Amino acid sequence: MRSLTCLLALAALLPGLSVPALAAGDCSAGPGTARVLEVDPAGLEVGLKHFPQTLDLAEGEFVLTFDDGPSAGTTPMVLKALAAGCVRATFFLVGTRAAESPALVKRILAEGHGIGYHSQTHPMTLADLPYDKAVRDIERGIASVDRAAYGNVTASPRFPFFRFPGFGSSPQLLAYVASRKMGVFGADLWASDWNAMTPDAELDLVLTRMEHAGRGIVLFHDTRLQTARMVPALLKAMKERGYRVVHVVPRGPATAGTSP
Ligand SMILES: [Zn+2]
Repeated sequence: MRSLTCLLALAALLPGLSVPALAAGDCSAGPGTARVLEVDPAGLEVGLKHFPQTLDLAEGEFVLTFDDGPSAGTTPMVLKALAAGCVRATFFLVGTRAAESPALVKRILAEGHGIGYHSQTHPMTLADLPYDKAVRDIERGIASVDRAAYGNVTASPRFPFFRFPGFGSSPQLLAYVASRKMGVFGADLWASDWNAMTPDAELDLVLTRMEHAGRGIVLFHDTRLQTARMVPALLKAMKERGYRVVHVVPRGPATAGTSP
C-alpha cells in the first residue's frame, strides 16, 4: 500500500505518467499483459468462428474481449478485476449504452483498454436489416461511441475495430466496414455467457475451451453479472496456468486517431 501511495504521489508530480503504466507495479491478481500486438485494420477479418483466419497468437496467448457494454452495473466490476491483474482487454461498445454512460467509456480508455464498435442498437442481426438501415445503425454506433469518448465526431471512426452483433455480417456490410477503414473482429472461442449459469460454471466452461483451443480471441459480455463476477477467478486461473494476455491495438495512422 505504501508503494502505491508513493506511485500515486509520483503520478501527481508527473502528469505525463499514465495510470495504466503505474498499475503495472502490482499485478498479483492476474497474469498481466504479456505483449501488445499491432495489427493493420485494413482488410482485417479475424476469429475462427466465422472467418478462415485469426490473429497471429502463440500457444498460451489469449486476447480478451468484452461486448455489449458499457453497463453501469457490471462494467466497473470487470474494469476493477482487469486493473488488479494488469490485464488489458478490448471492449466492443453498443452506441446506445455508450451514450448512457460516457464516463465509463472514458474510463475504459483511461485504464488502457481498447475500444471497438458494436453497432448503435445491437440488431440481431445487421445482415437481416435492409442494407441502408444496417449502415445507418453502424454509423450511429460509431458516432455515439466517439461522442462519449471524445465529445465530438470526426469524419473517420476513432477506433478502427468493429464486431458485428451476433457475428451477423454480409459481404456487402463487410465491404462497407472495410471502406470505413475498420478491421472486423470475430472470436475464436467464447464463454457462452448469454446462457444463464453460475460464475463457477462459466469459469469451468471457458477454461476448458481455452485449454482446448490453446490460444485465441475470447468473447465475453461485460453486461452479464455472472461474467463480471467470474473475471477475477478467470484472471487468477490464467496466471496459474501460465496463459498470457495479448492486447491488440491498431497499427499505423489509425492509432493517431485514438488520441483525444
Ligand atoms: Zn453483442
